[in-house]
Amino acid sequence: EATDSIVPEKDRIRVVVRVRPLNDRELENPKDPQTVLRCEGENSIIAEGGQHNRRFTFDSVFDEASTQEEVFQYSGIKRLVDLAIEGYVATCFAYGQTGSGKTHTMVGPGGAAIFRMDTNYRTNNFGIAPRAISYLFDCLREKTQRTNSPYYIRVAYCEIYNEQIRDLIRPENPDPLQVRGSIEDGFFVENLYQTYIETIDELLTILEEGELNRAMASHQLNDMSSRSHAMLSIQIEQDLQGYDDPQEQMTRQGKLTFVDLAGSEKVKASHSKGKQLVETNNINKSLLTLGTCISALSDPRMRNGHVPYRESKLTRLLADSLGGHGITLMLACVSPSILCENESLSTLRYANRAK
Ligand code: ADP
Ligand code: MG
Repeated sequence: EATDSIVPEKDRIRVVVRVRPLNDRELENPKDPQTVLRCEGENSIIAEGGQHNRRFTFDSVFDEASTQEEVFQYSGIKRLVDLAIEGYVATCFAYGQTGSGKTHTMVGPGGAAIFRMDTNYRTNNFGIAPRAISYLFDCLREKTQRTNSPYYIRVAYCEIYNEQIRDLIRPENPDPLQVRGSIEDGFFVENLYQTYIETIDELLTILEEGELNRAMASHQLNDMSSRSHAMLSIQIEQDLQGYDDPQEQMTRQGKLTFVDLAGSEKVKASHSKGKQLVETNNINKSLLTLGTCISALSDPRMRNGHVPYRESKLTRLLADSLGGHGITLMLACVSPSILCENESLSTLRYANRAK
């Protein structure tokens, strides 16, 4: 538990935007101009077109040419890892419409399938999660050499679809899993499988198998993976010697969570009716509630009032990260194409609200 070093309110949430390169379909489109977003400097993104250009400012923006390594170095994820080691609850989200680059940025091109490819290619293309965890191992190993205190890392991987939680490491776990706990003591997923890992390769295997388990289910339910949230949680436990009394043993616990969110295009009211509408609303509920919670938190007056964590599975599980000792990094992903103009603007507005 983090006690002394409190992170200032304004540093609790960091919002960065990544613009992906145009894909083949977007490049073939004859509209002129083809792109409607332009990055300027390190913090601004200009939405061009219409009567006026609109400028959005974020903690960082990454343009089409940015590399996975640059996003890792400058997004603020390293600080999140450092704070998780200190005992904070840290969360990194990827937000954006389907196809905007969430999984590419979080895991790697084409997702975890990349891990089966040759080692050099894969390490150069790793997304932020494997890079962050590799950095986490390096930091902890270095620290252990200095202090001689052991550490343990446990990983869980699940997905939330239609307000139901499924275990991605042990898909044979009876589903759906239940959320237990309280705001005061924190929420957790009951019976979610957790496994200790000691190397980055073990993490890669989990990501890869989890992705296969996710894909298998989505075969039965069309488009499920773009409608579900994938959540990878890493618990960091360190045995520390008492500062005043070396005989006294203390345990420090921190947490680092990566969430590859459902496609944001599903948030909008669809044309569905009746039963189908109920299902659509349910699928969107976590994402909509997340937006409400984040904007409540970025307003200091509302932060101390009612924040509707309880209203969805995702926000319940992230309540300790969004409030209290939590810190959050939001990676908003967008396509610069004119074909995605409305979705990209709505992502920029959502991200802007979170600052
Ligand atoms: P999402 O997870 O948001 O649905 P993906 O990450 O799967 O989107 O990206 C869609 C496609 O675009 C993938 O083929 C991906 O590799 C590619 N892509 C996304 N972002 C980038 C990027 N920054 N550079 C190159 N290709 C990218
Ligand atoms: Mg994806």
